Amino acid sequence: IRTELGHVERLTLVGQMAAGITHEIRNPMAVVCGFLQLMREKSPGELDSYYQIVMDELDRANGIINDFLSLAQSRISDKEEVQLHLIIEELGPLIWADANLRGQSVELSLNPSLPLLKLNVREIKQLILNLARNGMEAMEAKGVLTLETRMNGNKVELMIKDTGSGIPQDKLGNLFAPFFTTKSHGTGLGLPLCLSIAERHNGTIKVDSVSGRGTVFTVAFPFEAEENRAG
Ligand code: ADP
Ligand code: MG
Repeated sequence: IRTELGHVERLTLVGQMAAGITHEIRNPMAVVCGFLQLMREKSPGELDSYYQIVMDELDRANGIINDFLSLAQSRISDKEEVQLHLIIEELGPLIWADANLRGQSVELSLNPSLPLLKLNVREIKQLILNLARNGMEAMEAKGVLTLETRMNGNKVELMIKDTGSGIPQDKLGNLFAPFFTTKSHGTGLGLPLCLSIAERHNGTIKVDSVSGRGTVFTVAFPFEAEENRAG
């Protein structure tokens, strides 16, 4: 099962976000207001848990705003020539720690001799973390997350594989739509953001999924020979 979104589809998706964002920000704000009202009536002991809820919801609203702003941003500011495997190695400890907490493991299969790519490192890290986190969230304990880089024709490919739930065929068409989520605390902004970042690098994202077996997200970056000239 494969699905790939083009530039035109993404533009319409971004258009839909303006309406959705209002709704999404109001949810955490309503929770915060409600708990602030309760806090006026409660003893200091009970306040601790309310404090945490309020902070979590504000964090959530903040995260939504940050993702939304990244998504709306249409140009890459700082691109540098880097090797993809180095970015992944830098993120390794972060992903490993997260997986470890879930009783899952992470495997790296990195090709260290791939051509240099012109990337915005901050954005690519955001893309990798989002896909990795989705993979982990789709798996039970003992699941295995694999990050792989390879050359495929004139593309450098980054594959993020999980051994999780897989994605039912009827959901595949919705994956990259802003605010599409099947999680109780999901934002549904992770994949639209990933797609936006990939496209700002002239890349594509492809999904292969088998229900009950797992999912592979493949991000393909075009490789231009001139990027790899000496000097
Ligand atoms: P969120 O993670 O906040 O739900 P995303 O945009 O990151 O939002 O993902 C949207 C939805 O796509 C998820 O809620 C989930 O249903 C589905 N999804 C994404 N990645 C995976 C995966 N690796 N395995 C199974 N389902 C996935
Ligand atoms: Mg996500």
